[in-house]
Amino acid sequence: MTEALEPVPLQELRALGTAKVWEVEGELDELPLLTPVRGHVSAEHRGNVLAVEGKLNTIVTLCCDRCLNQFNQKLSCTPSELIWLGDEQPTADELELSGEVAEMEGLVDVLDPRGQFDPQQWAFEQLNLLLPAVNHCGDHCPGPPGLQQQPVIPDTKTKLVDPRWQALQQLQQQIDQP
Ligand SMILES: [Zn+2]
Repeated sequence: MTEALEPVPLQELRALGTAKVWEVEGELDELPLLTPVRGHVSAEHRGNVLAVEGKLNTIVTLCCDRCLNQFNQKLSCTPSELIWLGDEQPTADELELSGEVAEMEGLVDVLDPRGQFDPQQWAFEQLNLLLPAVNHCGDHCPGPPGLQQQPVIPDTKTKLVDPRWQALQQLQQQIDQP
């Protein structure tokens, strides 16, 4: 990832008084990227909350769970979330006072106000959420490797043989395969 995409102290964002925007163009080591991640991440300190949003695009190379071939998948998202700034989850009263109750519903992320916001980590998490639980290369998937281009042949050797004929069959095999 670009050098500029480094963790920034929340105090610094607070002092900034406006949204900080990071241009994103680069690699994320944790993801199997085919093309660099492109887009932006922005974060604005609003006192009790940090408003984060972004626009991220990339293409990852995944391995199909069925045919085990590699395939490319486009990941694209425009996430936005509010992160509560406090030592613990906000109480209902605190949310009420923050004036952003409607937006805060379903809020789970909490950051220590004395800590940092890491735009690269945030970008990674957003893209990671887009990865499919099951990798499937598509409708053209040829299926499991063992079944590819191999017509099913009935296995005659495992056929049950009358024990009286078994000796004869073994002899037959020895003649067939000297
Ligand atoms: Zn496949």
